[in-house]
Amino acid sequence: MISIIAPVYNEEEVLHSLYERIHEVMEGTGEEWELMLVNDGSRDRSAEIIAELHEKDQRVRGLSFSRNFGFQEAVTAGMHHVIGDAVVLTDADLQDPPEVIPEMIAKWKEGYDVVYGVRSSRDGETWWKLFTAKVFYRLIHRITSVNIPLDTGDFRLMDRRVVDAIGRMGERNRFLRGMVPWVGYKQVGIEYARHPRYAGNAKYSSTRKMLAFAIDAITSFSYFPLRLATFIGFVMASVSGLAILLVVFLRLFWTEQAFTGQATTLVTVLFLGGVQLISLGIIGEYLGRIYDEVKGRPLYLVDQSWGLQEREDAKSN
Ligand code: UDP
Ligand code: MG
Repeated sequence: MISIIAPVYNEEEVLHSLYERIHEVMEGTGEEWELMLVNDGSRDRSAEIIAELHEKDQRVRGLSFSRNFGFQEAVTAGMHHVIGDAVVLTDADLQDPPEVIPEMIAKWKEGYDVVYGVRSSRDGETWWKLFTAKVFYRLIHRITSVNIPLDTGDFRLMDRRVVDAIGRMGERNRFLRGMVPWVGYKQVGIEYARHPRYAGNAKYSSTRKMLAFAIDAITSFSYFPLRLATFIGFVMASVSGLAILLVVFLRLFWTEQAFTGQATTLVTVLFLGGVQLISLGIIGEYLGRIYDEVKGRPLYLVDQSWGLQEREDAKSN
């Protein structure tokens, strides 16, 4: 069975089309399938529409969070509740065309454990988003130890054993685009053209949100920023060592006037103060995340669910 997970946050305008497109594509494959809609605290009619779709077709299952927890949490909840032998993650807004899913299934049947979508083109995105995404993926590629493939999003198919492995990774700060490559096994990419959003508005596009996303990604997969502080420390220490020698030399052999006045002192002290505060901030970023881990709060809280009761009962038995 193939399980398809789509996180839903205020997507009332797209849910019906999402269901229809997926229905059509999946019927074409002849596989048994289910569609798991995770309502991430939508404030519109999304929850009602999920209930309607479930009424109409029992293969549509869903759950609703008690509030908005975020994309990564929604996808994680989906992964906790599906039972397919392969699981496909897709956005609800039809930016990831469901028509690619049969290709993914074909690759999976060839023996690949992860088939991820590589965006060959992206319509309907601003140049700013494309530019920052490009810079971000290349930076991540350089400074992390896991090999996050370039230009991939969350649209991917995963074998059951990958889904189980990710379910066992208990971290709070979940950067799935890094966690999936971290797992290993046989992974392969297939190209697809990313479409513009079908309807409604993007929820991620603010630069502030994208920056927060990038910081999460970097801190959960790399110590590079921490090492940067050490590196800068060494550079500064060496430079000032040389400067001391230079000052002494000039004083002894050239003129009394070399490097007098407070401006030089002040500027150096302020500069160093700045560097130290930045390093403290970096440590703080990691420390805050450690604090989140230590508190061990649940990743999400479920308010309501559709079509999942038997599974819950089976689990508790
Ligand atoms: N989403 C979510 N929780 C959020 C924000 C977004 O579940 O807090 C869902 C949203 O409904 C969509 C997917 O995540 O299915 C991608 O969101 P969006 O299209 O806004 O992001 P973009 O395509 O611009 O990256
Ligand atoms: Mg989108």
